[in-house]
Amino acid sequence: MASDSAPTASSAPNPPLDRIRIVLVGTQHPGNIGSAARAMKTMGLSRLVLVAPERFPHPEAVALAAGASDVLDTAIRFETLAEAVADCRLVLGCTARSRRIALEELSPRAGAARALATADSGADVAVVFGRERTGLENDELQLCHAAIHIPANPDYSSLNLAAAVQVLAYELRTGSLQAPSEPVDASIGSRQQEGRPELRSEPPATHAELEGFFSQLADTLDAIDFHKGRTPAAAIRKFRRLFLRAGLDAREVRLLRGMLADAQRMADIAHGRLPPPRKPED
Ligand code: SAH
Repeated sequence: MASDSAPTASSAPNPPLDRIRIVLVGTQHPGNIGSAARAMKTMGLSRLVLVAPERFPHPEAVALAAGASDVLDTAIRFETLAEAVADCRLVLGCTARSRRIALEELSPRAGAARALATADSGADVAVVFGRERTGLENDELQLCHAAIHIPANPDYSSLNLAAAVQVLAYELRTGSLQAPSEPVDASIGSRQQEGRPELRSEPPATHAELEGFFSQLADTLDAIDFHKGRTPAAAIRKFRRLFLRAGLDAREVRLLRGMLADAQRMADIAHGRLPPPRKPED
């Protein structure tokens, strides 16, 4: 069902905003999906992604979307967050709980600036929101490059889901209206922060490429007995944080994976699972 409202400035093509998707994870109340769609459309965002919503489609969603039912109609649905963000090169998770997570934490403005800088470079970006009752789970936050926290009243910091979407959508819109020549110091990784994109010949790795690397890293850490009886989860979290902060591109991910493959091979040789390499005869 298309919206019958007249086209407005907010629906004019806006390339960076068109590359930014709003991802709602496990939304419980369909009305919140409608209100989020409305919040998005007022700010010129149109890409809504729903991960395992409890009730959707639903008449309450349409009612609260008001004139933004086109955003609902084009919403894409996935069963897991990993699938929803697989092709994104930047994933930002919005959380009502501050400083309890091992992730870089950004203000909405800095998060929006980073999202726009990445989208401007032609890459897809996801801004992720959690469930009304319980927010994002830890393993979902682990999939994010950084967290965004709206600095609300610390004694009452949890906004309604659609209100949180509105805050981020507003920051994305105002950020996108700034002249592109204005310096943005919040893009991924230090090289982009230096404002010297010519140093980066490849775009940042996609989420799926990074997850492939993290899974190989976990296997290799086991193979080389890195953990020595300690629980792997804490080390993996620290490695994820370190590598996500680095803003790796696809070539760098391949380089690291090559190193891991060699470490794995040496571990296999050490454990007798592979024969030692033959020495060159001279
Ligand atoms: N009770 C949940 C709050 C969920 S509110 C909790 O403690 O986590 C639903 C979603 O809105 C959150 O998952 C988050 O994505 C977003 N949200 C709400 N308040 C926020 C805030 N202060 N900063 C950033 N995101 C917020």
